[in-house]
Amino acid sequence: CGLPSLFPSYPSMGLTRVFDEDLSAGFGTRAVHAGQRPEPLAGAIMTPVFLTSTYVQEELGKNKGYEYARGKNPTREALERNVAALEGGRHGFAFSSGMGCVDSLMKLFRAGDHIVCGVNVYGGTFRLFDKILKNFGMTFSFVDTRDPQRVEDAMTPATKAVLVETPSNPLMRVTDIRAVAEIAHRKTALLIVDNTFASPVFQRPFELGADIVYHSTTKYLNGHSDMVGGIALVQDDGIAERLQFILNAAGAVPGPFDAWLALRGTKTLHLRMRQHDANGRGVAQWLAEQLGPEQVMYVGLPSHPQHELARRQMSGFGGMISIELGSRERPAHVLKRARVFSLAESLGGVESLISHPASMTHASVPADQRARLGISDGLVRLSCGVEELDDLLADLEHAFEGIPAAKSADGRRAAVTAG
Ligand SMILES: *Cc1c(COP(=O)(O)O)cnc(C)c1O
Repeated sequence: CGLPSLFPSYPSMGLTRVFDEDLSAGFGTRAVHAGQRPEPLAGAIMTPVFLTSTYVQEELGKNKGYEYARGKNPTREALERNVAALEGGRHGFAFSSGMGCVDSLMKLFRAGDHIVCGVNVYGGTFRLFDKILKNFGMTFSFVDTRDPQRVEDAMTPATKAVLVETPSNPLMRVTDIRAVAEIAHRKTALLIVDNTFASPVFQRPFELGADIVYHSTTKYLNGHSDMVGGIALVQDDGIAERLQFILNAAGAVPGPFDAWLALRGTKTLHLRMRQHDANGRGVAQWLAEQLGPEQVMYVGLPSHPQHELARRQMSGFGGMISIELGSRERPAHVLKRARVFSLAESLGGVESLISHPASMTHASVPADQRARLGISDGLVRLSCGVEELDDLLADLEHAFEGIPAAKSADGRRAAVTAG
């Protein structure tokens, strides 16, 4: 693929590759079936949970392709093939969490390598780079990837990858994946995309030039808030072999039951995303009427400054919305009164959640940087689940009742433009 050799190639572990015949089916059919075949003993239609640490070998040097379960597990492989087929990738690698996935991806690089990263990425991604990987000699530039020129300006001869999250968390900023892929590739760097928010239902980064796509499967892919996991998808066989080696060597692998739960989740991904999207649009519309469109960050609203770009590279907008309420007292009022929207971190599950990024998901980002980013004390993030829209709107109506008056127009405008 024209990329530089990152380091000497590793011995092949026998890669798990997407079943080619799965790729010809439509998305919903892939979601239900890809990567799964009736199990040979009884013909069970559901992939069994292979609860085993090791595999019996027939004789010295002769096995069925499985030796020890850190390296490979059939339940995990079914999930990897399934999500690879959904993203249009060739190989999948499941991890114990989204962060375990990012950490293992960074082991593709070495001391001295430089990564250009979106400034508005998931708080935990920033924390991993800024607090841990920096100590190992890697360097990071955090830039506003809404402007591809800033990505280009941040590239150095040591830059090995560009990492973007779009739409971003929690400010719903959009990065032009195609433009950033061209910049990265001109400088022989990889483009890595966190596709957690959009899911492969609404955004297919490989088709726009990404080299590695990853997810926190904890969110939409699993969709039922009952496990934590991550997954990386790649096209290139060489990168895939390195990742398989890292996965086995570093060992941040998911247990088979968590892999099975994620696999059960992806079967209904296309159905759930439709409802998340319908509810997201309905709730964003209602909020825009209550608060004014400039206080509502939802990529599906025509008032979103990057709505046109979002329409170009996404086929739907999902259920994630952030709102700017101006002062800390106002979120406290709403969060306390909401009932159907539960006050909790995380997102992407069938149940609606509401949270306060400054004190929850982004508490690990220093306060001055939060202020620079626009993650104010008045910011509230909503993850619209798949309940009935009328019930979500009634819940918000109740939650907003009696909310303290907003600060002066000036104060409010200052909060909104802080980013
Ligand atoms: C949650 C999340 C992560 C981290 O995933 P975990 O499964 O919680 O480790 C990374 N990126 C995004 C966009 C997320 O929402």
